[in-house]
Amino acid sequence: MSEHPDIAGNIDAILNRIGKAAQASGRSSDAVELVAVSKRQPETRIDAALAAGQRVFGENRVQEAQAHWAGRRAHYADLELRLIGPLQTNKAADAVALFDVIETVDRLKLARILAREMETQGRRPRLYVQINTGAEPQKAGLLPQELEGFISEARDTLGLAFEGLMCIPPVEEPAGLHFALLAKLARENGLEKLSMGMSADYEVAIGLGATSVRVGTGVFGARDVAT
Ligand SMILES: *Cc1c(COP(=O)(O)O)cnc(C)c1O
Repeated sequence: MSEHPDIAGNIDAILNRIGKAAQASGRSSDAVELVAVSKRQPETRIDAALAAGQRVFGENRVQEAQAHWAGRRAHYADLELRLIGPLQTNKAADAVALFDVIETVDRLKLARILAREMETQGRRPRLYVQINTGAEPQKAGLLPQELEGFISEARDTLGLAFEGLMCIPPVEEPAGLHFALLAKLARENGLEKLSMGMSADYEVAIGLGATSVRVGTGVFGARDVAT
């Protein structure tokens, strides 16, 4: 791990590759958003990414996200924070208060509490449904066949609408199969956004329709091992 990763240089190179991959799939070079995943990264690197102009960040834990962003929020009006990790219902209020996008809605109990919190706080983060495309027992997310019923129940009983889908493919399988499945599910359910692709496979994801990619180590360098 490099002591001082060139974060501005990394972002520049990734945006360039994102633009090329988007064009190669027939979209404009700015069609795909870079979500810089700042979990378990030192404060200095986060500041370097902000200085380089990056404004969209992903975090996978509510408490760590608060530590990283509660103070910085006030200084960056155009900041966009995305929750990309599992959300426990007892953290839902904090998540609604902090995040602009919650990508990991995956059960009705959570959807119900989010709906109530959004009502109470008058804040409406955009919502994605996380899909467990590989049906892995240890992984969060709805099974693909549960999506349609989930969307209609959340709409009819809670008045919730979803903007898109998110997935984390199984590590041991070709990611492209999972990205293609996610894109198909989004099409079938009339959802526009696809959060898929990480440092190792974001160009593959863009080729299959990603509208945002979640890149951590590619932007910031290796993370702290401890969580
Ligand atoms: C950590 C994380 C990422 C970023 O992974 P990298 O391999 O560092 O790019 C993307 N998505 C989710 C859900 C993550 O937890």
